[in-house]
Amino acid sequence: MLPFARLTIIGLGLIGSSVARAVRAKMPSVRITGHDSDPSVRERAVALGFCDDVTDTAGASVMDADLVVLCVPVGAMGAVAAEFAADLPADAIVSDVGSCKQSVAEALGAALPNAIIIPAHPVAGTEKSGPEAGFATLFKGRWCILTPPENAPEAAVERLRIFWQQLGADVEIMDARHHDMVLAVTSHLPHLIAYTIVGTADDLEGVTQSEVIKYSAGGFRDFTRIAASDPVMWRDVFLSNKDAVLEMLQRFSEDLSALQRAIRYDKGDELEALFARTRNIRRSIVEQGQDDDVPDFGRKH
Ligand code: NAP
Repeated sequence: MLPFARLTIIGLGLIGSSVARAVRAKMPSVRITGHDSDPSVRERAVALGFCDDVTDTAGASVMDADLVVLCVPVGAMGAVAAEFAADLPADAIVSDVGSCKQSVAEALGAALPNAIIIPAHPVAGTEKSGPEAGFATLFKGRWCILTPPENAPEAAVERLRIFWQQLGADVEIMDARHHDMVLAVTSHLPHLIAYTIVGTADDLEGVTQSEVIKYSAGGFRDFTRIAASDPVMWRDVFLSNKDAVLEMLQRFSEDLSALQRAIRYDKGDELEALFARTRNIRRSIVEQGQDDDVPDFGRKH
């Protein structure tokens, strides 16, 4: 039994095109309509063929939808919803894939006061963007977190849960504020650290840029991969999840100062205790299937 028959995806980049490809693979009879504000993305989406139709306006894309999934940067969610508000069928469910949930829920609620809105966040992605970057298995074995408001109809939440499960994801239901706090530490802060470290290395006088690239050992190289993530998407994430990110950043700065002291005063046991604790966290991530155990620092390019 299919949870939806007519899906609209707005924003046809990495995540939007991956949702379309996954639906094509897992629910081939679902009719997929796509829209993107960028005419060149629309053209490329038509050429790649992962939608049945690609429309020039957001309004035209939602007219007969029973599920609309917004896959645009989080700062654009409210404006996109306002664009199609007048054309949205009354019984359609509106969802999204944004990386932070409280601000998106507020923006969608303001633009679509009478709609059924069930925000969602598939915790899956890569550092690439655009319609060519998407692939059908992106969500397989990954978490998708739904953050329904308290008054959300249970049947609508259940249909969205089934939708994501059919795309291969494991679904969790969470309060939006809690989601934003958890993701601030597991995703947003690591990105901020990567952006900082790569920027710092780039700014260093006395170390040429070619040396930074030539001697990029595993640690730095992995930071550059994270720091290559989409600039617009991440600008919006930090501005939209400001409170949680600032709270986590404060804790991080305190912990960094403690490490600084341990190094200055030769407290090797403190350093070793922390590194042993963090190694166990890596082990748990591998054990829970969230990453594989292939030695990564030694990989060849
Ligand atoms: P992306 O590859 O850059 O795709 C976003 C697409 O939305 C682009 O084609 C963009 O067009 C288009 N767009 C921007 N504003 C629009 C508007 N007002 N109306 C219609 N289309 C618009 O980004 P993405 O990585 O797929 O991210 C999309 C969403 O997924 C974001 O909310 C992000 O937080 C969330 N997310 C991302 C990841 C990840 O790892 N990347 C993981 C989970 C969730 P132009 O760029 O050409 O203007």
